[in-house]
Amino acid sequence: MNTPSAPFSWIKPAKWGVQIVPADTWIDPSRAVDRALVTHGHADHARGGHGETVATPETLAIMALRYNTREGAVPVQYGETIRLRGGVDATFIPAGHVLGSAQILLEHAGERVVITGDYKRRADPTCAPFEVTPCDVFITEATFGLPVFAHPPIADEMAKLLTALAHQGEGSVLVGAYALGKAQRVIAELRTAGHSQTIYLHGAMEKMCRLYEEHGVELGDLKLVADHTKGEIRGSIIIAPPSALRGTWSRRLPDPATAMASGWMRVRGRARQRGVELPLIISDHADWNELTQTIIDVGPAETWITHGREEALLRWCELNQRRARALAMVGRDEDGGQDGE
Ligand SMILES: [Zn+2]
Ligand SMILES: [Zn+2]
Repeated sequence: MNTPSAPFSWIKPAKWGVQIVPADTWIDPSRAVDRALVTHGHADHARGGHGETVATPETLAIMALRYNTREGAVPVQYGETIRLRGGVDATFIPAGHVLGSAQILLEHAGERVVITGDYKRRADPTCAPFEVTPCDVFITEATFGLPVFAHPPIADEMAKLLTALAHQGEGSVLVGAYALGKAQRVIAELRTAGHSQTIYLHGAMEKMCRLYEEHGVELGDLKLVADHTKGEIRGSIIIAPPSALRGTWSRRLPDPATAMASGWMRVRGRARQRGVELPLIISDHADWNELTQTIIDVGPAETWITHGREEALLRWCELNQRRARALAMVGRDEDGGQDGE
């Protein structure tokens, strides 16, 4: 490769995003820039105010809904390559995290860099599956980057939820789930598990569920809690933001048992802290085995680790003779922020 400068010097991690230097473009910047490539719609990756936002049509629709950002939107389909300034090619590749989520492949001067954004390897009926993309530098998230994090099969968690519902009889089960991604995945997986009755929604869930349906994700019969009496909701599952688990909103529900769908439910203290009776370990991030297996599958010359628990994964790379470094970035809440869990 005839690059005059040091390898990969055209890609620069900074505290508030990853900079593609020759293109004067940023990936998932946490502050407003002239030109941004955005991997997906969660708040710790997507924000309003950029001059130009390049993302998948689904992510742009999510951003328009959440942050009212319509101006400067540049849609890119999965698999489509766009040429940025400075001779950098960018390709958006499914990441399997939430609707529209993408890894971004950057090619410049004969070098290939993939930035995962958030991702998972498990099947998810609400989004396109993660695709392994060979590259020289693999910039991976590490939200659940500790060996203790091993997400169980989602079918097990759905069975727990449906058993709890059966035990509730004339009562109900209130499931706390983040509004973008987790809520729709729980609903779609309930349908896969054969639960065909009406699922009731907190008002804060409605628009995002409709957006998913408009993009071809089938969620079955959904109704708003606000439009129905306690009597009508008996024996049902209700999906609401985690903040609604405690507080007065749930008083309108018939004898609700409280559940929470999150990868952090693996940590018992967190469930107790939130007063959750039924912790459901459901994550839209790769667990430890998925993180390490993905590094093996992708086989990069270098792995750059960000967005979570970098230390353990860095150590794993060292023990496995893989070149790696940890990136320190701000604006990435290790707790998953508002909706990343
Ligand atoms: Zn994230
Ligand atoms: Zn995310």
